[in-house]
Amino acid sequence: MRNKIVAGNWKMNCSFDEAEMLVDEILDRLEEQEELECEVIVCPPFPYLEMLTDMEFEEQQFNVGAQNCSAYEKGAYTGEVSAKMLRSLDVDYCIVGHSERRKYFGETNEVLAEKINRLIENNMSPIYCVGEVLEEREANRHFEVVKEQLEKGLFHLDRDAINDVVIAYEPVWAIGTGKTATPDQAQEMHAFIRSLVKEHYGDAVADEIRILYGGSCNAKNATELFSQPDVDGGLIGGASLKAEDFVSICVQASQIKEKE
Ligand code: PEP
Repeated sequence: MRNKIVAGNWKMNCSFDEAEMLVDEILDRLEEQEELECEVIVCPPFPYLEMLTDMEFEEQQFNVGAQNCSAYEKGAYTGEVSAKMLRSLDVDYCIVGHSERRKYFGETNEVLAEKINRLIENNMSPIYCVGEVLEEREANRHFEVVKEQLEKGLFHLDRDAINDVVIAYEPVWAIGTGKTATPDQAQEMHAFIRSLVKEHYGDAVADEIRILYGGSCNAKNATELFSQPDVDGGLIGGASLKAEDFVSICVQASQIKEKE
């Protein structure tokens, strides 16, 4: 049985005050809902993590995730934030390998594998992002690209560790562009990813692992995307900055019958 996840990636947005207002509104709106059947994760920028983990502690309405962590354990790495530091703030999740990090910060699958190792060592769950750019899809190379990202970045983990991982399929051409993958395109890739997990780790792991869709997912298209059999929720960028839209996406996720 797979419980849906909706994770909001705030990216590099919001002043402290704006972040406080946004999270207050998210909490108010979540509180208006009867028991939500999905897990909500909010991933703010580093400086706001503690504000959110403190609230989480009081309210228990959502889990908190970081957007990145260092591949190194500790030491002379100016500007870096370690997995251990995140864990010490009660952060449970961390996005790894977002396409913006791959593109603007040159993060390779090999570096991402190290980041995932640091997170697992510190009992946190990586949300590992994979996805092809437009040229790769147009050249019909999208399955090959995603397979390589998984094999080099994730599949070194053993069976125990992989159980803590969430995968996010984010076609790069759909991120922040308003151009969403069709439900069929999303389902096709999610089924492919699950089949690879099955090949490496067997049926039980493949049945349990959550695979989120990300890329211009919003309050208008969430139900259609999340209704696909292998889509277990979403990683939401732009729409996570509007409390009304974000909570609507969470409600839509929780209204879709859980898959056995
Ligand atoms: C993202 O950044 O992970 C994302 C999916 O962004 P957006 O929803 O804005 O396309």
